Amino acid sequence: MTDKKTREIAELGEFGLIEHLTHDLNLKQKSTIKGIGDDAAVLNYGNTSIVLTTDLLLEGIHFNLIYTPLKHLGYKAVVVNLSDVYAMNAIPKQITVSIGVSSKFSVNHLEELYEGIKLACEKYNVDLVGGDTSTSLTGLVISITAIGEANKENITYRCNAKKNDIVCVTGNLGAAYMGLQLLEREKNVFTSINDMQPNLEGYEYILQRQLKPEARKDVIELFKELQIVPTAMIDISDGLSSEILHICNKSGVGCKIFQDKIPIDLNTQKMAKEFNFEPIIAALNGGEDYELLFTIDVADFDKIKNQPLIHPVGHITTKEHGAVLISESGHTIELQAQGWNPLRNKKSEE
Ligand code: ADP
Ligand code: MG
Repeated sequence: MTDKKTREIAELGEFGLIEHLTHDLNLKQKSTIKGIGDDAAVLNYGNTSIVLTTDLLLEGIHFNLIYTPLKHLGYKAVVVNLSDVYAMNAIPKQITVSIGVSSKFSVNHLEELYEGIKLACEKYNVDLVGGDTSTSLTGLVISITAIGEANKENITYRCNAKKNDIVCVTGNLGAAYMGLQLLEREKNVFTSINDMQPNLEGYEYILQRQLKPEARKDVIELFKELQIVPTAMIDISDGLSSEILHICNKSGVGCKIFQDKIPIDLNTQKMAKEFNFEPIIAALNGGEDYELLFTIDVADFDKIKNQPLIHPVGHITTKEHGAVLISESGHTIELQAQGWNPLRNKKSEE
């Protein structure tokens, strides 16, 4: 590497960096419908659209093996990719799995990892069709690519939300983040040499949300059943604030989200209370819930209003109104992307 370091990566942040490196790319193929900038790329072949997404997971950055069982890690690595496929309103069909493995791992360890990978493939009905294997100097590296399918007209991008659309989220938010806080709190106990056991009883729900999340296959099936095609959709991997801002920015709109409508599980609230932490912050800025955030035309509201999986949390406004949260006390607060950003976090820790 030549010494051309004039600009720190942290100045740009993750999305700034991607934009900086890729803004001058020209798409050459007619079949490339959507390149960089959504949950997955979209490629058209006949009437079928193929969606394609890839993710990289690094030990010490994305996962900590002190408290992450390898089987859960394998499962989660698959699920986070499938979540990006579902976020395009597509059905995942195949994955490839590439691993870099350092000498501290044995065959048994990798068997455990693959047990989880295979379990996710069974559950989500996808085929593992290839990958790559290498040694690594710095712990475990996992990269998974997922391919999915949809009819052209059903593909849902981030960029088509329009004024008055209803903003909805699935399931509940903030649980995975509180699960992570608990694991971090108990981390010392996992590594201590005496017989102390981490105190995890009664916290199964938030731990499962952190260690073994599920992707929202059920919601994509529900859309089909209800004959709904969302106007825009994204999966919630970095917290609600960051994701709704992606939709607003890409769609050129604003939004009004109501705090009292944001679904937060009782277990999440309980954990937050114990940590003296506002559960709404976990929902807005915590990561890894892998729920879906989407917008629908008001005409479709009746179809979703009694669906227990789906929670309307606000509506789309014009860009001039900004992206705002109406707090429980009625205050208007501008939403900010404080999502989980390893490139920036790393810098701030230095
Ligand atoms: P997600 O959080 O949904 O997995 P990302 O935030 O990782 O998506 O990526 C945003 C977009 O940038 C995606 O379209 C992704 O394919 C693209 N992207 C990310 N990193 C790179 C890179 N190094 N080179 C080219 N494209 C990238
Ligand atoms: Mg995504």
